[in-house]
Amino acid sequence: MYQKLICGLQLLALQPAWEEWKFYDLSFFLLAVPVVFIYGICIGSFLNVVIIRLPRDESLIKRASHCMTCGAKIRLVDLIPVFSWIFLKGKCHSCGEKISPRYPIVELLNGLLYIANFFVFGFTFNTMIMCLYTSVLVVVGFMDWDTLEIDLRVLAVIILLTIPSHFLNETSLLDRIIGAACVSIPFFLIGEISGLYYQKKTGEKVRGIEIGDTLLMLCGGLYLGWRAVVPAVFIGILLAAICGLIIKSITGSSKFAFGPYLCIGLLLGAMFGELITNWYLSTIPQPETQSYYTNAICYYLYN
Ligand SMILES: [Zn+2]
Repeated sequence: MYQKLICGLQLLALQPAWEEWKFYDLSFFLLAVPVVFIYGICIGSFLNVVIIRLPRDESLIKRASHCMTCGAKIRLVDLIPVFSWIFLKGKCHSCGEKISPRYPIVELLNGLLYIANFFVFGFTFNTMIMCLYTSVLVVVGFMDWDTLEIDLRVLAVIILLTIPSHFLNETSLLDRIIGAACVSIPFFLIGEISGLYYQKKTGEKVRGIEIGDTLLMLCGGLYLGWRAVVPAVFIGILLAAICGLIIKSITGSSKFAFGPYLCIGLLLGAMFGELITNWYLSTIPQPETQSYYTNAICYYLYN
């Protein structure tokens, strides 16, 4: 078992994950998966703090965690992610007021997403960067759901993550630049045109696609490259359309956050986007052409 473990540690290099799993045995998974999960729910606990405090411009570290109703400081034993909420039966130890199930849900979600990243990207440094990217999307999604706004400080983290990601991935700089532009520019134009149209009609400029969503796709595209961000935006729009209709039929309100769906798209895009695009391209026969430029574009697309 130790040999396998050392072998696993040696694989902390840059390799696609699917192929390598056959080198690990069950004992490695039994050890690694709980560790990744616990790491994920602990980070998830911090994400809750960010989601609640950042929109109110409160310090993320200064004040200790406290009950939102009575203000009582949360005891150290009650700070265990997910499990404390279950032990406390979802109630504050001091005033007995209900604690929102949102907290354990965010923690659990982050833990499960870390395990998913671990399986998709393998036991690599790239996975750690991907996990942080995942967490940023969790924060963006829930904050947009709550406040209908996307915080630019959070998006800046995605741009920072692009730097290490660039050295750990094969995605080229050109791929990233095209990725940053290919969704954000159409989003910006749709937002502008729909905004002007509404302004003409009602006198109020309401953009069809907000600037925050546009910038989210710009950062996501830069981080993922176009091969992953194109399927990501299709998934995001499809989910938003389905869920938007469901929400409208329940609440009657057409005002809803687009960001959470884009975040789910960007998550799935990061994991499977390149596979989807490369599969899609493989189904289209390469055109036979004599033109130098078309040949160059085909070479870029298919290789
Ligand atoms: Zn309380």
